[in-house]
Amino acid sequence: MAKIIDGKAISAEIRGEIKEAAAKFFEENGYRPGLAVVIVGEDPASQVYVRNKKKACDEVGFYSEVYELPESTTQEELNALIDKLNGDSKIHGILCQLPLPKHLDEKEVILRIDPSKDVDAFHPVNVGNIMIGEYSFLPCTPAGVMELLYRSGIEISGKECVVVGRSNIVGKPQAMLLLHANGTVTICHSRTKDLSEVCRRADILVAAIGKADFFTADMVKEGAVVIDVGMNRRADGKLTGDVDFASVEPKASYITPVPGGVGPMTITMLMKNTLTSAINHNK
Ligand code: NDP
Repeated sequence: MAKIIDGKAISAEIRGEIKEAAAKFFEENGYRPGLAVVIVGEDPASQVYVRNKKKACDEVGFYSEVYELPESTTQEELNALIDKLNGDSKIHGILCQLPLPKHLDEKEVILRIDPSKDVDAFHPVNVGNIMIGEYSFLPCTPAGVMELLYRSGIEISGKECVVVGRSNIVGKPQAMLLLHANGTVTICHSRTKDLSEVCRRADILVAAIGKADFFTADMVKEGAVVIDVGMNRRADGKLTGDVDFASVEPKASYITPVPGGVGPMTITMLMKNTLTSAINHNK
């Protein structure tokens, strides 16, 4: 039987710490850490994420602004808003909710956000900083995974870590963070030969491919730590991970559930990055 890593509880613990730090920041400086969230268009999933980010800001005592722009917004209008937020001293973090409508250039937006306010850590400057291990911001989901490991007392140093998935927002930075923590890291992807065999080597397996219940017990070593980043909707609307929880859980030593594992950590780490940015801007 695996220990279940309770992402909700760990997330609540960290939010408590952030709230305390934000109150101290306000006491010392007379203003609050501020986050601006920009959303373009009507994507319902994105609207839920944005609402949750605003709620999280309220919960930890941050100042926040939400910009809900119409689908018809032009690149020039979006750029102008980013420029305004870059220059706004009340705002320490800028997040543009992706994906953007097709006529807008995501890369241009990512490059336009001041790296010192890039709390998603998507700007190439921040990506490069992660590579060399000198960072202010970590991308929220991989950073959340690291917190789950640390706060569950899981040793990473010297361990075989297998990350499945190589996206810029999850897999690649996740691998880099495990490497910085002295894991021996393998990254797998859709062209990996004999994926099961590679996964079975893992002391720590991070599944981030976006395929429901893909990782079954035969792909997991006895006693492995299994982190499920996947968020997939079943036909009945239920949320499920990339890991077949029922078959893997008895074999693992630790496992994250979906929902209630990695998911709650992502917005929490966004709050942490916003606090870090406010502290850095105040220096
Ligand atoms: P992407 O679609 O950008 O990347 C998926 C990766 O998985 C790719 O590198 C792809 O390989 C690899 N892959 C796909 N199929 C296979 C396969 N059969 N075998 C091995 N590798 C495979 O996804 P993201 O990284 O953005 O997200 C991954 C999952 O994490 C999704 O379910 C997403 O919803 C979830 N997620 C959860 C978050 C949270 O807060 N919990 C936040 C962000 C994402 P290749 O490069 O070769 O195509």
